[in-house]
Amino acid sequence: MGDLLLRGGIVQGRTQDVAVRDGRIHRIGPNLDPTGYDGLDVTDKLVLPGFVESHIHPDKAFIADRTQGLRAGGPTPQLLVAELKKAFTVEDVYRRARRVLELAIRHGCTTMRAHVEIDSFVELRGVEALRRLQADFAGILDLQLIAFAQEGIFNDGVTKRLLREALKAGLSTLGGCPYMDRDQRAHIDWFFDTAQEFGVPLDFHADSADDPAMLTSDYIAEQTIARGMRGRVTLGHLCTLDALQPDHRARVIDLLRDAGIHVISLPATEMHVKGRTDAVRVWRGVTRLGELRAAGVNVALSTNNVVNPFTPYGHPDLLRQALVATMAAHLGNLDQMAWLLELVTTNPARAIALADYGLAEGCRADLVVLDARNPAEAITEQAEKLFVVKGGRIVARNARSSELLRA
Ligand SMILES: [Zn+2]
Repeated sequence: MGDLLLRGGIVQGRTQDVAVRDGRIHRIGPNLDPTGYDGLDVTDKLVLPGFVESHIHPDKAFIADRTQGLRAGGPTPQLLVAELKKAFTVEDVYRRARRVLELAIRHGCTTMRAHVEIDSFVELRGVEALRRLQADFAGILDLQLIAFAQEGIFNDGVTKRLLREALKAGLSTLGGCPYMDRDQRAHIDWFFDTAQEFGVPLDFHADSADDPAMLTSDYIAEQTIARGMRGRVTLGHLCTLDALQPDHRARVIDLLRDAGIHVISLPATEMHVKGRTDAVRVWRGVTRLGELRAAGVNVALSTNNVVNPFTPYGHPDLLRQALVATMAAHLGNLDQMAWLLELVTTNPARAIALADYGLAEGCRADLVVLDARNPAEAITEQAEKLFVVKGGRIVARNARSSELLRA
């Protein structure tokens, strides 16, 4: 197969062709010369850069049927999964995670940054499985891995050492989870020290609670500035922002912007897990996406959990997450849906520092073609991902068949 020419698609709001050469976008423009290309008719279909999944847990996906669901007064999802993790083998993680990757690709994902849990329960078995997948999917899906401390670092004697081992083995990002340790600031300090020692970016699960006293994103932002790590720190969750008084929230958001923090919202998990003990006005826990964006913070959406106690209906389809966010975060007006898909494309690409990403000449030809004419229609109709292109090659194709027999 030769170089592709996507013909007649809607590219950045206009009808244009996209010519691919040697895995990169060679030219974008109307009516390009088709000579020497394999033509692909995408007339009136929305062409976007490939979806970027920036926060997901393939290692603990597809385990909802191994344990009970969340019940009033019952164990937390962390406890349920910690118990299951002890029995995870490399093969088991590989098989389940592979299913996540395959689904993600079919749903338009061309780059993924995944958390891999490292602790006394699972040790480095998840790392081994995910590194195998990283190699097996080379050229089909770019997979970045985060060495992630889901169980905290002060609760056993091995996690800190194992995290360092994983970084030495080549994992590209270090992931903390301050709320799993009693001393959140000591946890955060260790992660900054270690990230600086290894020269890797940081990704924290931060501020998952509805108690303003648990807030850590302000301290993380201060440390980010003090240690010269602007633009290299990402925070997932940030639910606590929604529980702050407006003036306090505005101050925190300004600090996040000044620190160049990237914020990743995980709306499906928040809506399944949060507010379980509220008697009235159930807290939904989704961070303030609109306010963060309006203040100039780089915000993204991600899947987080796939079929486990954190989100039994979780699915690595970022177009679905966009619909969840429109509903959860009051972002459903047409002018808001017009930019919402940036939260699953260009914004997460920035958060994970992807080079040469986007719809411009010279960028890598990582593309998704949606059966829709604009982003609002794509979100509303949950449009089919007609073609997924990675490095200039079609790696997935989908079709939806539906017939109205009487009208
Ligand atoms: Zn997560």
